[in-house]
Amino acid sequence: MDLGGAIPPKLGRYDLLMSCVFCGRSPVTKEHVFPQWLNQYLPPGRQQTEQARYGAGAYEVTRESLGLDFTVKKVCAPCNNGWMSKLEASSKGVLEPLIIRQDLDLISLQRQRKIALWATKTAMMADQVQQEPLLPSHQLRRMRTHRAIPGGTRVWLGSCPERNPIVTSHTVRIDLTGVSAPGAPQPVGFFCPMKIGHLCIYVYFPAVDVVIQHAREFHLSVARIWPRRSSDLPFPPPAQPQNGEAFEALADALRESLYLYTPEQAAKHGIRES
Ligand SMILES: [Zn+2]
Repeated sequence: MDLGGAIPPKLGRYDLLMSCVFCGRSPVTKEHVFPQWLNQYLPPGRQQTEQARYGAGAYEVTRESLGLDFTVKKVCAPCNNGWMSKLEASSKGVLEPLIIRQDLDLISLQRQRKIALWATKTAMMADQVQQEPLLPSHQLRRMRTHRAIPGGTRVWLGSCPERNPIVTSHTVRIDLTGVSAPGAPQPVGFFCPMKIGHLCIYVYFPAVDVVIQHAREFHLSVARIWPRRSSDLPFPPPAQPQNGEAFEALADALRESLYLYTPEQAAKHGIRES
């Protein structure tokens, strides 16, 4: 589904009581989940956008909007206009060529890190749209103070020959079984695939220390950029979802194919990260 538009929660005077998810300050203001500079690449006219929310207060709606007005009201103005706006500005040059074109490219380690950081921040914002966000607040705070990508975060990249829709994204809660100590609470992970123009990004937060493998069939369609690779990344990958719908199907299939091993299991069987 497309997350180009949203139904901002009508919080009114409660805005004053809410505190920023990144720093704890009040009041909060509206922050766009996806950068506004993407608007220039939207087809003319009103956008048909879809949004879904799972869990309590679940809904799935389609509505029209002008531009990408997918916003969330959980961030304070100093964060919004400060570090987040700086991060957006410093990511644009790295992201834009991959979003609007499909040129052959070799993405350096430095660019990979920038893309992974931006993708992680954006996935954090998409999580905040949910009634019960899944990412723990200390990870959001460390994003603000250290631009730290939470330990265990995985980011894969892919590409799609069709540029529209400009933004297709959703978030999925993942209940992880079989990877925690007996009796410990079951960890909850989070998956956020997003297609932005041609660029496909898949962000996964497993919430526990695991070694992850995906099915062999994905080796040609997605490439890991976080945790760090050891080399530049030839881009785009040879296998690609043909359009936005195929992208969503591929994202679902990728998530279902992920196999998580505890570090002990992985060491015992000689299993390495995909
Ligand atoms: Zn803040």
